[in-house]
Amino acid sequence: MLMRRARCTGSNELGVSEHESSKIEMEGHKELGSRAAADVVAAVLRPEIRALSAYAVAHADGMIKLDAMENPFTLPPAVRSKIASTVAAVPVNRYPDGGARAVTAALRATLALPDSLGLVLGNGSDELIQIITSAVAKPGATMLAPEPSFVMYRLNAIYAGMRFVGVPLTADFALDADAMRSAIERERPALIFIAYPNNPTGNLFAADAIADILRMAPGVVVIDEAYYAFADASFLPRIAEFPNLVLLRTVSKIGMAGLRLGYAVAATEWTTELNKLRQPYNLNALTQAVAPLLLAEGALLAEQAAMLKAERARLHAALATLRGVEPFRTQTNFVLARVPDAPRWFDALREAGILVKNLHGSHPLLDHCLRITVGMPAENDALIAALNALR
Ligand code: PMP
Repeated sequence: MLMRRARCTGSNELGVSEHESSKIEMEGHKELGSRAAADVVAAVLRPEIRALSAYAVAHADGMIKLDAMENPFTLPPAVRSKIASTVAAVPVNRYPDGGARAVTAALRATLALPDSLGLVLGNGSDELIQIITSAVAKPGATMLAPEPSFVMYRLNAIYAGMRFVGVPLTADFALDADAMRSAIERERPALIFIAYPNNPTGNLFAADAIADILRMAPGVVVIDEAYYAFADASFLPRIAEFPNLVLLRTVSKIGMAGLRLGYAVAATEWTTELNKLRQPYNLNALTQAVAPLLLAEGALLAEQAAMLKAERARLHAALATLRGVEPFRTQTNFVLARVPDAPRWFDALREAGILVKNLHGSHPLLDHCLRITVGMPAENDALIAALNALR
């Protein structure tokens, strides 16, 4: 009672106002708090997590953005207004549909999936890589992937506490079948990731070599078809052949990177289990409303992919004419090219307002390599002009 009265009067024994005294107390706590936080972090965090740096996303404001394999097309006005009215009606005060039924139905129809195959939807295929990894990460379990490949495989092995074994590709970026076979026999990996086509090299591995891996692997093999829209081959029609195959795709490269939607297709025995690891509302309400509208635009998406493939051929040919530049064959929406001095060329392109990805130093096979996403014709022209000016 007394205390309460003292509070009400707004002062204390030292004559400092209550407001000031609580400020002092708070600051004391903050100091103590930050010191303690650092100590607690050091004591409890897994050392492999402390050793990581957060995934860096380059700032690209005002630049020609050719670094992240996005689709460069903006949407036609009619599609935009359909999206606008659909989004306006979304009840964002409610949780989204936990089963994401509209997106599931749209994908099942688009892919013509038989009942024996199930789907797992993710907040980008990045989330599905994490879900699949955590599902098999028993103590001591190993993840295996050819390298160089998509960096999130290795990172997710670290997140889940799995051992990671990278098997180098050959110098021309093919799967090294012998090295893969002996690594699989030696390591008995619970999980193998194969990007088909591969990022960052851009090529499609031999289907026979992948089928051999599927047959000899003791665990699950994820074939990651993030770039399927630009490739001439897919394992989608062959899923039933392999009981250990999980196929991964994303809509990020076909014009919906901002929606964050990836999907895994596999036998329902797999998808039933993997769906248990999904957070209940991992696909937000706006994505669930918009994705089906865009998936219904099959002709538009196909036309954009065809235009990007034509631009890819033009960009590849232009790069091949530059002295000292070796563009590698690609079945994706980017071109990997070896240049005489990648760090210098990367900087010069950035100065010219063009952002690409410098892979020099990330793997010995990628010495002096730049990864260039195929953009709009004018963007590709700007890139070619900047490279010409560089020589
Ligand atoms: N797999 C591969 C091979 C990729 O290159 C990428 C994106 N760079 C992803 C998966 C992740 O795509 P998202 O999370 O946007 O679906």
